[in-house]
Amino acid sequence: MNDLLKQYFGYDSFRPRQAEIIEHVMSGRHAMVVMPTGRGKSLCFQIPALTSTPGDGDLTLVLSPLVALMQDQVDALQARGVDAALINSSLDRATRLERQSEIAEGKYRLLYVTPERFRKEEFLETIGQRNIRFLAIDEAHCVSQWGHDFRPDYSRIAEIRSLLGTPTTIALTATATAECRADIYRQMDIAPSDIKLFHEGIDRPNLSMEVESVVDEDEKYDQLIQALGDPIIWGKRGEKPGGTIVYFSLIKTLERFAEKLRRSGIDHVCYHGDLSRGQRRSMQNAFMSGEVDTVLATPAFGMGVDKEDIRLIVHAETPGSIESYYQEIGRAGRDGQPSRCLWLYDQADLMTQMQFIEWSNPDAGFYDRLMHALTQHADRCDAFGLDWLNQQLQRVSPHDHRLETAIAMLDRHGVIAGPRPPECFQVIGELSAKIFGDEKLTDKLRRDQQRLYAMVEFARTSEADRQAFLNDYFLGDGV
Ligand code: ADP
Ligand code: MG
Repeated sequence: MNDLLKQYFGYDSFRPRQAEIIEHVMSGRHAMVVMPTGRGKSLCFQIPALTSTPGDGDLTLVLSPLVALMQDQVDALQARGVDAALINSSLDRATRLERQSEIAEGKYRLLYVTPERFRKEEFLETIGQRNIRFLAIDEAHCVSQWGHDFRPDYSRIAEIRSLLGTPTTIALTATATAECRADIYRQMDIAPSDIKLFHEGIDRPNLSMEVESVVDEDEKYDQLIQALGDPIIWGKRGEKPGGTIVYFSLIKTLERFAEKLRRSGIDHVCYHGDLSRGQRRSMQNAFMSGEVDTVLATPAFGMGVDKEDIRLIVHAETPGSIESYYQEIGRAGRDGQPSRCLWLYDQADLMTQMQFIEWSNPDAGFYDRLMHALTQHADRCDAFGLDWLNQQLQRVSPHDHRLETAIAMLDRHGVIAGPRPPECFQVIGELSAKIFGDEKLTDKLRRDQQRLYAMVEFARTSEADRQAFLNDYFLGDGV
């Protein structure tokens, strides 16, 4: 193990718990790893993967939700001489077919895919040629419907595991409450007694967690300017300043602040979903390289941001859950130096989050209307796709994701086939009240609301007690 660590990664020693986790997995037992971002979760499946003999047919499969993140990880591994590869929607057909035939022939010991891949027959055939020794489920919180970042395809995990011959499974995430972990085990179809939890705790003693109440946007802006002038960012004389991320929920608020900063002559870049992929990448690079110290961003920014010296995280708008808040502040102070996390709390922002919750929770009536459109107007759905459906269902805002959510759920539960390009859906089953019934759906809505309410409680907690609050939130039902 130590030889592999040195040979491929150039490190002399394991970080806390890595060796223990690796040994556990290598002995063929399942593991659930909860460890803060940046601590080194990936090694916990990469080293086991490298203990296979090249060419003997053993493969470690890594499920990962994000295409962009996957590319970075595989590039880094290949640069270290690890025989890793990925298959996802970013590959053109020719490359994909070539990669698949290489895999079928026994090349590569590590393969990264998104769960969507398992919908493809050709992929299943490819993977059937190999012995899946380990299955790693990265960002495992996406498995849980009750998680803050649910991905419908992640809920096929049990099916996928069984297709693969129930290999030794290692699930990894930075944040999962006890309830979320229980759901992940259920979704993976592993009994809690058959999987060992490795919980690294969530203490980040070098981060201060401040909440500043503000009454309006002007006060928010003043507080932001003050924070940007804080010596904690600027370090000692002659040192390079560290980075700052200012998070927003809404692009339009972000843009207003960007404009104000521009007028005040404060250098920054912006990162959000309305920018092109190329623009986002160049903004991210400018920030990562230290060319620009401040980035204004929506929560989309940060997955895979591995910058050590982020000194200040400002939440200029209220995050929707403790999970999101903790994940976002977790990007500060990776180098262990004191760093500041400041949430500018305007109660009016709660309305935005409540609206988001409503828009990510289609109710039973919405499902009925959608089914009506799909069954009675199949020809128009086919011809005009999602745009037409959104019109029928009276979508009012780009943040209204009810249609996407509902389509994904119907697909997941076998009511429709699709979505398949070009946006066609075929009704193949019936709405089941068990899944789409009022009670079930209000239950989910209630949980989302409770998550937001926990933010309010967190704001009310005194600064000295906030770490204890987080410990209780994440570790509440025992480690
Ligand atoms: P996570 O998935 O937990 O967010 P990563 O696996 O991406 O974290 O690792 C974060 C960084 O820590 C990477 O640059 C990785 O190479 C580094 N790292 C991991 N383990 C060690 C170790 N034992 N010694 C030194 N650096 C390590
Ligand atoms: Mg990771």
